[in-house]
Amino acid sequence: MIVAKFGGTSLASAHQIKKVCDIITSDPERRIVVVSAPGKRSRDDIKVTDMLIACAQAGLEKGNADDEMNAVVERYAGIASDLGLSGDIVEIIADDIRTRVNGDKSNKEKYTDNLKAAGEDNSAKLVAAYLKSIGYDARYVNPKDAGLILSDEFGNAQVLPQSYENLKSLSDYPGITIFPGFFGYSLSGEVVTFPRGGSDITGSILAAAVNADLYENFTDVDNVYSANPNLIDNPRPIIELTYREMRELSYAGFSVLQEETLIPVFKKGIPVRIKNTNNPSAPGTTIVKERHNITEPVVGIAGDAGFCFIYLSKYLMNREIGFGRRLLQILEEEHIPFEHMPSGIDNITIILKQAHFTEQKEKRIVERIVKELEVDDISVQRNLALVMIVGEGMRNTVGITSRASGALARENINLDMISQGPSEVSMIFGIKDYEKDRAIRALYNEFFK
Ligand code: ASP
Repeated sequence: MIVAKFGGTSLASAHQIKKVCDIITSDPERRIVVVSAPGKRSRDDIKVTDMLIACAQAGLEKGNADDEMNAVVERYAGIASDLGLSGDIVEIIADDIRTRVNGDKSNKEKYTDNLKAAGEDNSAKLVAAYLKSIGYDARYVNPKDAGLILSDEFGNAQVLPQSYENLKSLSDYPGITIFPGFFGYSLSGEVVTFPRGGSDITGSILAAAVNADLYENFTDVDNVYSANPNLIDNPRPIIELTYREMRELSYAGFSVLQEETLIPVFKKGIPVRIKNTNNPSAPGTTIVKERHNITEPVVGIAGDAGFCFIYLSKYLMNREIGFGRRLLQILEEEHIPFEHMPSGIDNITIILKQAHFTEQKEKRIVERIVKELEVDDISVQRNLALVMIVGEGMRNTVGITSRASGALARENINLDMISQGPSEVSMIFGIKDYEKDRAIRALYNEFFK
């Protein structure tokens, strides 16, 4: 059995939804389908999820979200009418959105999540209605009825383990199940959403729960490419990737899959195939546990800005038992996750995401580190980028660091940090953020041309 997930651009219009339904019905194995909210129809269009966020803001700030709500209902009504569906489904969708807009506003995050979830929920109702209208046995399933239970972190939920057992029986239905992505319910019955792009996560959870043979993720590109096509002309397509390679590339900016997507399928060893709704006969990119034909060391090059480094040094740091723990404890107490922590003998750099390490927090944390750990020197560098080369083949190839640093040196790019993760699947270079694109091009030319 296949679990297929369709992203926002695949649901953006009636024309796109017809393509989705052709794909679903062309293979009887595609029995569980996860859908996103309607996305952008063109570059400057607005995603329904963003319209719903605007709706929530208007409801909370102005106490009146009529215009924003009508705009969302009109998006659905336009699609429904182009699909030739009766007004009933539009009534159902309009009632649903109105109920959410008029919901309890005492907790802003809860109110916003409930509205955000309307995008996927109504998209699923619409697709199920269309499939039925053209004669297929299809049903819409609500995540609450199916038992998709999440942690109660609004906008940042994680799946709770009991969901897998609950969702197993989804595969019993002989027809096509249309399931909304992006949200589930907390134990207390509130709607909670995953981070943005989270319909990918729903698909992965469902694939793991029903032990699917394949998780297909339909988007609007033929493949994952070895570098960002907005930076490199015609980058090399990637036919096969391992979970680890994909995870590392998504971490550093490859946006084809939401970063947290792979965990559920990875645990079960279910392959993931990224395919294009607009060109479904293209083979796509398959993500697997192990690759057997590794002919080249590097499979992809990614880069992301928005990092900062805290550098600290203390004479004889290596002898001081508990130094690392106390340092990380300060970050834990300040609720800041760390990304990497390369170290020398008497010095250590902690790499954080700038979004977590705000300038307000910086002063307090630096003061705490100086006072509690009695360091000799501490400095903070902001506006840095991490550029990564990724590939399982790097493990058995000599000279990769020298090739990469040589390519960056020829571009006159200064390296603030180099780190080769213990897995040897990736190598990370810390540079100034304004040099990121140039660095990616230089590395691409070195490894792919
Ligand atoms: N619609 C949600 C978003 O825009 C989730 C998704 O599309 O995966 O983030």
